[in-house]
Amino acid sequence: MISFSSFYKQIADSSLQHWLETLPAILGQWQREHKHGSLPKWEKVLNKLHYPTPDTLELTNSVTIGSGSQLTAGEKEKLENLLRIFMPWRKGPFSVHGIDIDTEWRSDWKWERVLPHLSPLANRTVLDVGCGSGYHMWRMLGEGAKHVVGIDPSTLFLCQFEAIKRIAGDQHPVHLLPLGIEELPPLDAFDTVFSMGVLYHRRSPIDHLLQLRDQLRTGGELVLETLVIDGDENTVLVPGDRYGKMNNVWFLPSAAALEAWLKKADFIDVRCVDVDVTSLAEQRSTDWMPNESLVDYLDPSNIDLTVEGYPAPKRATFIATKNQPNKDLV
Ligand code: SAH
Repeated sequence: MISFSSFYKQIADSSLQHWLETLPAILGQWQREHKHGSLPKWEKVLNKLHYPTPDTLELTNSVTIGSGSQLTAGEKEKLENLLRIFMPWRKGPFSVHGIDIDTEWRSDWKWERVLPHLSPLANRTVLDVGCGSGYHMWRMLGEGAKHVVGIDPSTLFLCQFEAIKRIAGDQHPVHLLPLGIEELPPLDAFDTVFSMGVLYHRRSPIDHLLQLRDQLRTGGELVLETLVIDGDENTVLVPGDRYGKMNNVWFLPSAAALEAWLKKADFIDVRCVDVDVTSLAEQRSTDWMPNESLVDYLDPSNIDLTVEGYPAPKRATFIATKNQPNKDLV
Protein backbone atom coordinates (compact mmCIF):
# COMPACT_ATOMS: atom_id res chain seq x y z
CA MET A 1 0.00 0.00 0.00
CA ILE A 2 1.25 3.51 -0.77
CA SER A 3 2.33 5.00 2.54
CA PHE A 4 2.66 8.64 3.55
CA SER A 5 4.57 8.02 6.79
CA SER A 6 7.88 9.37 5.45
CA PHE A 7 6.05 12.61 4.63
CA TYR A 8 4.69 12.86 8.17
CA LYS A 9 8.20 12.34 9.54
CA GLN A 10 9.63 14.94 7.20
CA ILE A 11 7.20 17.68 8.26
CA ALA A 12 7.16 16.90 12.00
CA ASP A 13 9.77 19.56 12.76
CA SER A 14 9.03 21.94 9.95
CA SER A 15 6.84 24.94 9.18
CA LEU A 16 4.27 22.42 7.88
CA GLN A 17 3.92 20.61 11.22
CA HIS A 18 0.43 21.89 11.99
CA TRP A 19 -0.78 20.04 8.88
CA LEU A 20 -0.33 16.87 10.95
CA GLU A 21 -3.43 17.81 12.93
CA THR A 22 -5.68 17.00 9.96
CA LEU A 23 -3.71 15.30 7.20
CA PRO A 24 -3.34 11.72 8.52
CA ALA A 25 -7.12 11.43 8.89
CA ILE A 26 -7.72 12.65 5.32
CA LEU A 27 -5.09 10.39 3.79
CA GLY A 28 -6.20 7.49 6.01
CA GLN A 29 -9.65 7.87 4.54
CA TRP A 30 -8.15 7.95 1.03
CA GLN A 31 -6.31 4.69 1.78
CA ARG A 32 -9.44 3.00 3.16
CA GLU A 33 -12.01 4.23 0.67
CA HIS A 34 -10.11 4.90 -2.50
CA LYS A 35 -11.76 2.85 -5.16
CA HIS A 36 -9.70 3.30 -8.33
CA GLY A 37 -10.08 -0.09 -9.98
CA SER A 38 -6.48 -0.29 -11.18
CA LEU A 39 -4.81 0.69 -7.90
CA PRO A 40 -4.24 -2.90 -6.64
CA LYS A 41 -2.57 -3.78 -9.97
CA TRP A 42 -0.42 -0.64 -9.89
CA GLU A 43 0.61 -1.23 -6.28
CA LYS A 44 1.76 -4.75 -7.21
CA VAL A 45 3.98 -3.24 -9.89
CA LEU A 46 5.34 -0.64 -7.47
CA ASN A 47 6.30 -3.42 -5.08
CA LYS A 48 8.43 -4.99 -7.81
CA LEU A 49 10.55 -1.88 -8.35
CA HIS A 50 13.67 -2.80 -6.38
CA TYR A 51 16.74 -1.45 -8.12
CA PRO A 52 20.26 -0.43 -7.05
CA THR A 53 20.83 3.16 -5.97
CA PRO A 54 21.22 4.96 -9.30
CA ASP A 55 24.76 5.92 -10.30
CA THR A 56 23.51 9.28 -11.62
CA LEU A 57 20.72 11.61 -10.61
CA GLU A 58 20.69 14.53 -13.01
CA LEU A 59 17.93 17.03 -12.24
CA THR A 60 19.22 20.36 -13.51
CA ASN A 61 18.84 19.89 -17.27
CA SER A 62 16.54 16.87 -17.38
CA VAL A 63 15.26 14.16 -15.07
CA THR A 64 17.82 11.40 -15.60
CA ILE A 65 17.91 8.66 -13.00
CA GLY A 66 20.65 6.08 -13.53
CA SER A 67 22.97 6.05 -16.53
CA GLY A 68 21.78 2.69 -17.78
CA SER A 69 25.02 0.86 -17.11
CA GLN A 70 23.82 -0.77 -13.87
CA LEU A 71 21.22 -3.04 -15.48
CA THR A 72 21.61 -5.86 -18.00
CA ALA A 73 19.67 -5.69 -21.26
CA GLY A 74 17.23 -8.22 -19.84
CA GLU A 75 16.73 -6.25 -16.63
CA LYS A 76 16.14 -3.09 -18.63
CA GLU A 77 13.53 -4.80 -20.75
CA LYS A 78 11.78 -6.02 -17.62
CA LEU A 79 11.83 -2.54 -16.07
CA GLU A 80 10.50 -0.99 -19.26
CA ASN A 81 7.61 -3.47 -19.32
CA LEU A 82 6.77 -2.63 -15.71
CA LEU A 83 6.86 1.13 -16.40
CA ARG A 84 4.60 0.67 -19.42
CA ILE A 85 1.89 -0.68 -17.12
CA PHE A 86 1.49 2.94 -15.95
CA MET A 87 0.66 4.21 -19.46
CA PRO A 88 -0.48 6.70 -20.60
CA TRP A 89 2.54 8.77 -19.50
CA ARG A 90 1.60 12.41 -20.06
CA LYS A 91 4.10 14.59 -18.16
CA GLY A 92 7.85 14.17 -18.52
CA PRO A 93 10.19 13.12 -20.14
CA PHE A 94 12.03 10.86 -17.72
CA SER A 95 15.15 8.84 -18.38
CA VAL A 96 15.31 5.88 -16.01
CA HIS A 97 18.27 3.46 -16.12
CA GLY A 98 18.65 4.23 -19.81
CA ILE A 99 14.93 3.89 -20.61
CA ASP A 100 13.54 7.05 -22.21
CA ILE A 101 9.93 7.66 -21.20
CA ASP A 102 8.82 9.91 -24.05
CA THR A 103 5.74 11.53 -22.61
CA GLU A 104 2.87 13.35 -24.33
CA TRP A 105 4.13 16.68 -23.00
CA ARG A 106 7.58 18.18 -23.17
CA SER A 107 7.16 19.42 -19.60
CA ASP A 108 10.83 20.39 -19.69
CA TRP A 109 10.01 23.12 -22.21
CA LYS A 110 7.50 24.67 -19.80
CA TRP A 111 10.13 24.52 -17.05
CA GLU A 112 12.65 26.31 -19.27
CA ARG A 113 10.13 29.12 -19.85
CA VAL A 114 9.27 29.46 -16.17
CA LEU A 115 12.61 28.92 -14.38
CA PRO A 116 14.43 32.14 -15.38
CA HIS A 117 11.71 34.23 -13.70
CA LEU A 118 11.59 32.50 -10.30
CA SER A 119 13.12 33.67 -7.07
CA PRO A 120 15.88 31.08 -6.56
CA LEU A 121 14.38 27.88 -5.16
CA ALA A 122 17.43 26.99 -3.06
CA ASN A 123 16.39 26.09 0.49
CA ARG A 124 12.74 26.86 -0.17
CA THR A 125 9.75 24.77 0.86
CA VAL A 126 7.66 24.43 -2.27
CA LEU A 127 4.10 23.35 -3.07
CA ASP A 128 3.20 22.22 -6.60
CA VAL A 129 -0.58 22.23 -6.97
CA GLY A 130 -1.77 19.86 -9.72
CA CYS A 131 1.73 18.42 -10.05
CA GLY A 132 0.77 15.59 -12.44
CA SER A 133 3.38 12.82 -12.35
CA GLY A 134 5.76 15.13 -10.53
CA TYR A 135 8.11 15.99 -13.40
CA HIS A 136 8.52 19.64 -12.33
CA MET A 137 8.96 18.62 -8.68
CA TRP A 138 12.17 16.79 -9.57
CA ARG A 139 13.35 19.86 -11.44
CA MET A 140 12.55 22.01 -8.36
CA LEU A 141 14.67 19.63 -6.29
CA GLY A 142 17.39 20.05 -8.91
CA GLU A 143 17.29 23.80 -8.20
CA GLY A 144 18.05 23.10 -4.54
CA ALA A 145 14.59 23.30 -2.95
CA LYS A 146 14.64 22.04 0.64
CA HIS A 147 11.34 20.17 0.42
CA VAL A 148 8.94 19.81 -2.51
CA VAL A 149 5.32 18.80 -1.86
CA GLY A 150 2.98 18.08 -4.75
CA ILE A 151 -0.75 17.54 -4.63
CA ASP A 152 -2.79 15.94 -7.38
CA PRO A 153 -6.02 13.96 -7.11
CA SER A 154 -5.13 11.60 -10.00
CA THR A 155 -4.30 8.06 -8.85
CA LEU A 156 -2.38 7.24 -12.02
CA PHE A 157 -0.16 10.29 -11.57
CA LEU A 158 0.48 9.27 -7.96
CA CYS A 159 1.54 5.80 -9.09
CA GLN A 160 3.80 7.19 -11.83
CA PHE A 161 5.42 9.48 -9.28
CA GLU A 162 5.87 6.62 -6.81
CA ALA A 163 7.46 4.48 -9.53
CA ILE A 164 10.03 7.16 -10.34
CA LYS A 165 10.69 7.82 -6.65
CA ARG A 166 11.21 4.15 -5.81
CA ILE A 167 13.84 3.98 -8.52
CA ALA A 168 15.48 7.32 -7.58
CA GLY A 169 15.57 6.45 -3.87
CA ASP A 170 13.11 7.09 -1.11
CA GLN A 171 15.30 9.59 0.75
CA HIS A 172 14.70 12.53 -1.57
CA PRO A 173 12.63 15.33 0.01
CA VAL A 174 9.86 15.18 -2.58
CA HIS A 175 6.35 13.88 -1.88
CA LEU A 176 3.08 13.64 -3.77
CA LEU A 177 -0.19 13.57 -1.86
CA PRO A 178 -3.43 12.51 -3.62
CA LEU A 179 -5.37 15.63 -2.70
CA GLY A 180 -7.14 18.50 -4.40
CA ILE A 181 -6.23 22.06 -3.38
CA GLU A 182 -9.64 22.43 -1.73
CA GLU A 183 -8.67 19.72 0.79
CA LEU A 184 -5.77 21.73 2.21
CA PRO A 185 -6.14 23.83 5.34
CA PRO A 186 -4.74 27.38 4.99
CA LEU A 187 -1.15 26.45 5.81
CA ASP A 188 0.39 29.91 5.45
CA ALA A 189 3.78 28.20 5.19
CA PHE A 190 5.22 27.61 1.71
CA ASP A 191 7.94 29.86 0.29
CA THR A 192 6.84 29.19 -3.30
CA VAL A 193 3.54 27.81 -4.59
CA PHE A 194 3.15 26.64 -8.19
CA SER A 195 -0.18 26.22 -9.96
CA MET A 196 0.53 25.24 -13.55
CA GLY A 197 -2.21 24.02 -15.87
CA VAL A 198 -4.87 23.98 -13.15
CA LEU A 199 -6.75 27.30 -13.01
CA TYR A 200 -8.86 26.64 -16.13
CA HIS A 201 -10.04 23.37 -14.58
CA ARG A 202 -11.44 25.23 -11.57
CA ARG A 203 -15.06 26.34 -11.62
CA SER A 204 -14.33 29.19 -9.29
CA PRO A 205 -11.04 30.73 -10.38
CA ILE A 206 -10.77 33.54 -7.83
CA ASP A 207 -11.37 31.03 -5.03
CA HIS A 208 -8.49 29.04 -6.54
CA LEU A 209 -6.25 32.11 -6.31
CA LEU A 210 -7.28 32.63 -2.68
CA GLN A 211 -6.60 28.97 -1.87
CA LEU A 212 -3.13 29.33 -3.38
CA ARG A 213 -2.54 32.53 -1.42
CA ASP A 214 -3.58 30.78 1.80
CA GLN A 215 -0.80 28.19 1.36
CA LEU A 216 1.95 30.82 1.03
CA ARG A 217 3.77 32.54 3.84
CA THR A 218 3.59 36.33 3.73
CA GLY A 219 6.14 37.45 1.15
CA GLY A 220 6.07 34.03 -0.53
CA GLU A 221 5.93 33.68 -4.31
CA LEU A 222 3.09 32.38 -6.47
CA VAL A 223 3.86 30.94 -9.90
CA LEU A 224 0.68 30.65 -11.91
CA GLU A 225 0.54 29.19 -15.42
CA THR A 226 -2.74 28.87 -17.25
CA LEU A 227 -4.53 29.19 -20.60
CA VAL A 228 -5.29 32.75 -21.71
CA ILE A 229 -6.94 34.43 -24.65
CA ASP A 230 -6.27 37.75 -26.34
CA GLY A 231 -8.15 40.77 -25.06
CA ASP A 232 -8.40 43.53 -22.47
CA GLU A 233 -9.06 43.23 -18.75
CA ASN A 234 -12.76 42.63 -19.35
CA THR A 235 -12.20 39.70 -21.71
CA VAL A 236 -12.88 36.19 -20.38
CA LEU A 237 -13.91 33.12 -22.39
CA VAL A 238 -16.24 30.62 -20.76
CA PRO A 239 -16.33 27.85 -23.35
CA GLY A 240 -19.46 25.84 -24.08
CA ASP A 241 -19.59 22.11 -23.63
CA ARG A 242 -15.95 21.55 -24.57
CA TYR A 243 -12.68 23.38 -25.21
CA GLY A 244 -10.10 21.39 -27.20
CA LYS A 245 -12.35 18.35 -26.56
CA MET A 246 -11.93 18.82 -22.78
CA ASN A 247 -15.20 18.97 -20.86
CA ASN A 248 -13.64 20.48 -17.72
CA VAL A 249 -12.53 23.91 -18.90
CA TRP A 250 -14.28 26.82 -17.20
CA PHE A 251 -12.56 30.20 -17.42
CA LEU A 252 -9.97 31.44 -19.94
CA PRO A 253 -9.18 35.06 -19.05
CA SER A 254 -7.00 37.47 -20.99
CA ALA A 255 -3.61 38.12 -19.39
CA ALA A 256 -4.91 41.58 -18.42
CA ALA A 257 -7.98 40.09 -16.73
CA LEU A 258 -5.86 37.54 -14.87
CA GLU A 259 -3.58 40.29 -13.63
CA ALA A 260 -6.64 42.11 -12.26
CA TRP A 261 -7.91 38.90 -10.60
CA LEU A 262 -4.54 38.35 -8.90
CA LYS A 263 -4.56 41.90 -7.56
CA LYS A 264 -8.13 41.45 -6.35
CA ALA A 265 -6.99 38.29 -4.53
CA ASP A 266 -4.53 40.53 -2.66
CA PHE A 267 -1.32 39.61 -4.47
CA ILE A 268 1.25 42.32 -5.09
CA ASP A 269 4.12 42.68 -7.54
CA VAL A 270 1.99 40.86 -10.14
CA ARG A 271 3.70 40.34 -13.47
CA CYS A 272 3.17 38.29 -16.60
CA VAL A 273 6.57 36.84 -17.46
CA ASP A 274 5.77 34.64 -20.44
CA VAL A 275 3.09 34.06 -23.07
CA ASP A 276 3.41 31.09 -25.40
CA VAL A 277 1.20 29.36 -27.96
CA THR A 278 1.46 25.60 -27.33
CA SER A 279 3.16 24.01 -30.31
CA LEU A 280 2.34 20.66 -31.86
CA ALA A 281 5.84 19.57 -30.88
CA GLU A 282 5.26 20.29 -27.18
CA GLN A 283 2.09 18.18 -26.82
CA ARG A 284 1.82 15.13 -29.05
CA SER A 285 1.09 11.39 -29.10
CA THR A 286 4.07 9.19 -28.40
CA ASP A 287 4.91 5.58 -27.90
CA TRP A 288 4.20 6.06 -24.17
CA MET A 289 0.95 8.01 -24.76
CA PRO A 290 -0.64 6.64 -27.92
CA ASN A 291 -4.03 8.37 -27.53
CA GLU A 292 -5.26 11.59 -29.16
CA SER A 293 -3.25 14.74 -28.48
CA LEU A 294 -3.12 18.42 -29.42
CA VAL A 295 -3.24 17.93 -33.20
CA ASP A 296 -6.57 16.13 -32.78
CA TYR A 297 -7.95 19.00 -30.67
CA LEU A 298 -7.30 21.64 -33.36
CA ASP A 299 -9.24 22.51 -36.49
CA PRO A 300 -7.44 20.60 -39.29
CA SER A 301 -8.02 23.50 -41.70
CA ASN A 302 -6.79 26.18 -39.26
CA ILE A 303 -4.57 25.25 -36.34
CA ASP A 304 -5.12 28.69 -34.78
CA LEU A 305 -8.51 27.36 -33.66
CA THR A 306 -9.69 24.41 -31.60
CA VAL A 307 -12.12 21.95 -33.17
CA GLU A 308 -14.89 23.93 -31.45
CA GLY A 309 -13.72 27.19 -33.09
CA TYR A 310 -12.13 28.76 -30.00
CA PRO A 311 -8.61 30.25 -30.02
CA ALA A 312 -5.98 27.48 -29.88
CA PRO A 313 -4.21 26.97 -26.51
CA LYS A 314 -2.05 29.90 -25.46
CA ARG A 315 -0.49 29.84 -22.01
CA ALA A 316 0.67 32.68 -19.76
CA THR A 317 2.90 32.52 -16.68
CA PHE A 318 2.41 35.00 -13.85
CA ILE A 319 4.57 35.63 -10.81
CA ALA A 320 3.09 37.39 -7.78
CA THR A 321 3.83 37.90 -4.10
CA LYS A 322 1.63 37.29 -1.07
CA ASN A 323 1.04 40.66 0.49
CA GLN A 324 -0.10 39.99 4.05
CA PRO A 325 -1.25 37.19 6.38
CA ASN A 326 -4.38 35.26 5.39
CA LYS A 327 -7.62 37.14 5.78
CA ASP A 328 -11.10 36.59 4.43
CA LEU A 329 -12.04 38.75 1.48
CA VAL A 330 -15.72 39.58 1.69
N1 SAH B 1 1.33 21.04 -13.36
C1 SAH B 1 1.53 20.07 -14.44
C2 SAH B 1 0.29 19.26 -14.74
C3 SAH B 1 -0.90 20.05 -15.21
S1 SAH B 1 -2.30 19.04 -15.65
C4 SAH B 1 2.01 20.79 -15.65
O1 SAH B 1 1.93 22.01 -15.71
O2 SAH B 1 2.47 20.15 -16.58
C5 SAH B 1 -3.49 19.56 -14.43
C6 SAH B 1 -3.42 18.72 -13.19
O3 SAH B 1 -4.28 19.30 -12.21
C7 SAH B 1 -3.93 17.30 -13.41
O4 SAH B 1 -2.90 16.42 -13.08
C8 SAH B 1 -5.13 17.18 -12.49
O5 SAH B 1 -5.24 15.89 -11.90
C9 SAH B 1 -4.81 18.25 -11.46
N2 SAH B 1 -5.98 18.75 -10.74
C10 SAH B 1 -7.28 18.78 -11.13
N3 SAH B 1 -8.07 19.29 -10.17
C11 SAH B 1 -7.24 19.61 -9.13
C12 SAH B 1 -7.47 20.15 -7.83
N4 SAH B 1 -8.69 20.45 -7.41
N5 SAH B 1 -6.43 20.35 -7.02
C13 SAH B 1 -5.18 20.02 -7.43
N6 SAH B 1 -4.90 19.49 -8.65
C14 SAH B 1 -5.92 19.28 -9.49
